[in-house]
Amino acid sequence: MPHTLLAFHAHPDDEALLTSGTMARAAAEGHRVVVVVATDGELGLAASEYTGDGALAATRMDELRASARALGVARVEHLGYADSGLGPEVAPDPPGTTRFVRADVDEAATRLADILREEQVDVLLSYEPNGGYGHPDHKQVHVVGALAAELAGTPRVLEATAPRDTICRAIDLAAKVYRFPPEFDRSSFDRAFSARSEITHRIGVRRHIAAKRASMRAHTSQASADGGADRTLAAFLRIPRPLYDVVFGREWFVDRSLPAGSAIRRDVFADLP
Ligand SMILES: [Zn+2]
Repeated sequence: MPHTLLAFHAHPDDEALLTSGTMARAAAEGHRVVVVVATDGELGLAASEYTGDGALAATRMDELRASARALGVARVEHLGYADSGLGPEVAPDPPGTTRFVRADVDEAATRLADILREEQVDVLLSYEPNGGYGHPDHKQVHVVGALAAELAGTPRVLEATAPRDTICRAIDLAAKVYRFPPEFDRSSFDRAFSARSEITHRIGVRRHIAAKRASMRAHTSQASADGGADRTLAAFLRIPRPLYDVVFGREWFVDRSLPAGSAIRRDVFADLP
């Protein structure tokens, strides 16, 4: 029976790394897939050719739509908030909108719950309390996503994650063959995501790896930097293919409603009626 999956993310390009394989697989298996971003990502880093006059927001929404096409996503929505950025201080709100970290949580959750109800969503993909690696907008996704699912009565919330022990090992292995860009902070991964023991869902997406790469490639601005400096997304796309398939061929989620020690699920729609 076809189900509906909604992936809720903070910024365009967040869908590519942690959830695009699961989205592509669900779509390929005949389910309806919707993606919602809280912000248009206007404060993302990018080469200056992308950043004049607020152009980056429109570019990044276009990139998200291209990624969505590659994944078979049926609908793309923007919740209407502004990017809070990663800086030590949150910039003033742009005219007519609110930075997502300053959003009224009830209001933001109501906006998302309206879409969850309209789409009769069975599974919401959201984030962990630490937002994976600590971006304030990603932590806010966790808070807003959890409340929205409660308001809409969404049966399942899966928090996108990755086993941090595996990630650290893969990074150390990759670091032997090439240098990561300066912005890449290896030590941040020691505290990021979840321990393997907390993970409840491990989703095989190797058969959909071409769609996942296309999704990552769609975010051209996020692989760009002035003076040819390297970016994490670009570096990931240069990982030699066999290693890429190992690193990105699986995606992981935590369902906090399941008792600790539950058997690993291999399908995001497992146990649904
Ligand atoms: Zn993000």
